[in-house]
Amino acid sequence: MREYAIAAIPADGIGPEVIAAGLQALEALQRRMGSFRLHVEEFPWGSDFYKRTGAMMPADGLETLKKFDAIYFGAVGAPDVPDHVTLWGLRLPICQGFDQYANVRPTKILPGVTPPLRDCGPGDLDWVIVRENSEGEYAGHGGRAHRGLPEEVATEVAIFTRVGVTRIMRYAFRLAQARPRKLLTVVTKSNAQRFGMVMWDEIAEQVSKEFPDVTWDKMLVDAMTMRMVLKPQSLDTIVATNLHADILSDLAAALAGSLGVAPTGNVDPERRFPSMFEPIHGSAFDITGKGIANPVATFWTGAQMLEHLGEPEAAARLMAAVERVTASGLLTPDLGGTATTKQVTEAVCDAIHSANI
Ligand code: NAD
Ligand code: MN
Repeated sequence: MREYAIAAIPADGIGPEVIAAGLQALEALQRRMGSFRLHVEEFPWGSDFYKRTGAMMPADGLETLKKFDAIYFGAVGAPDVPDHVTLWGLRLPICQGFDQYANVRPTKILPGVTPPLRDCGPGDLDWVIVRENSEGEYAGHGGRAHRGLPEEVATEVAIFTRVGVTRIMRYAFRLAQARPRKLLTVVTKSNAQRFGMVMWDEIAEQVSKEFPDVTWDKMLVDAMTMRMVLKPQSLDTIVATNLHADILSDLAAALAGSLGVAPTGNVDPERRFPSMFEPIHGSAFDITGKGIANPVATFWTGAQMLEHLGEPEAAARLMAAVERVTASGLLTPDLGGTATTKQVTEAVCDAIHSANI
């Protein structure tokens, strides 16, 4: 029996609702397959923990997490705690502390989902966005002078390093190479931003030489938003900076039907540390406690986690079960349906058990 240690951090808002659903599906999958075992330990970190202790996680939190094979994460964010505290207190320290430099965001239109674009059905939109996850605009550098005064100046410095850009570019080319279309689009803003973005373009040229079988092109991020809407079929794998890909992937999620189906893996490709898998969405306080959070993103990121752990068959079975349920029309309100989190979860567990997947 192959065994894996999983740290679950449900955190805030709908995080605990979707992680509970995800763990239920993973449990059903293990029972059905019998070939692997996940040992899950849950950590009560997040905004409530912050209100009790003054920190989003214990000081030795990363030390504790280091022992696990992967992290299954819900969402952070509470109405009464500033967003920069929740983000910089838990999610970003894990991403940065474990050098999870590749943020991998698959998007496709699931069967049964009606996307907002006319003339765009399943198969027309099947992308993976690779987001640089360790530097760029979210490197945390900058400052404020003359705070609160009329002459106040604030800087937000984007940091790009040759090592950082080269490794994400290689990751993206390698991923594009492994996908059937072998197609990569490199997104920058190198017309207006002359330093970091021009270095991105140069490094893309250099790295592309290592992947002669990958067809690639360059796009400016503003034009990219139009292409995503007008010619979704022309895209496959996409690589962009931390900020650009953050924005593009919310657009991608909307084009695929809902933020509630969009998963992400924060991956350390060198496997020195645990990687972290989470839905892209936040804590969604507007629907917290109502029992209608869409668990599909959390199922899908569970499949990403299984794939990363080396259980591709289990990952495929989980996704097949999810697709069978969406195809049947059992959808939560964000996708235009009336189903609850519980109904979707139970249907996915049933589909996992049925033999003909
Ligand atoms: P959000 O993603 O929480 O919600 C945006 C909208 O999408 C809301 O209307 C919400 O109801 C809906 N939505 C999101 N996930 C859904 C799901 N699974 N099912 C159905 N509907 C869903 O973003 P927001 O409202 O901008 O932010 C709320 C909080 O979450 C903030 O504190 C923000 O900082 C935080 N946040 C955290 C993360 C993260 O933990 N990775 C990501 C984004 C936002
Ligand atoms: Mn985002």
